[in-house]
Parts: sequence; C-alpha cells; structure tokens
Amino acid sequence: MGRLFLRYIEAESVHCCALCATHLAAHDQVVSRQFRGRHGDAWLFGDVINVNDGPPEKRLLLTGLHVVADIYCNGCDTRLGWKYVEAYEEQQKYK
Ligand SMILES: [Zn+2]
Repeated sequence: MGRLFLRYIEAESVHCCALCATHLAAHDQVVSRQFRGRHGDAWLFGDVINVNDGPPEKRLLLTGLHVVADIYCNGCDTRLGWKYVEAYEEQQKYK
C-alpha cells in the first residue's frame, strides 16, 4: 500500500466527512434533497470522491429493487451511505 492521497474540491460549498473533514462532493453535485434512505432523509449526489465501495448487494428500496454498495470514507473508513450500482426499473436508471 502506498501513501493515501486525498483529493480536494475547489468549490464555494463542499460536503465533507463529518468525522475527518475529507472532501466528498461539491454542493452543485447534489441531485436531490428529497430523497429517502433507509434511515430517513438522504441526499442524492451525482459524483463523490475520496470514498471506497463495499461489495455490491441487492436491496429492495422504496423505488424498487436496486443493486447498491455501501461507501466508506477514504480518510477514516466511516460508512457514509451507499450508492447505486444498478437499477432494475427503467425510470430509476438516472441514479
Ligand atoms: Zn472521514
């Protein structure tokens, strides 16, 4: 393993890891704030950096069956949420 490089986002407003302040996404990458996750309200981002993925798994969400993977902060390994890997329903594929 080499040195851990973390990228930084140059934007006015940046979303960071709550624990280690690693940059995760620029504010303009927020696709939706009216999004529902398993644990309540969630934000949908178009692109995030400095994260690594867990193994993909099928999950039945409110909008149908999706293949998702948990994502972890590269700085402190905290589980941040999850991302869509594949959507089965055509109208959900934009995610
Ligand atoms: Zn972190």
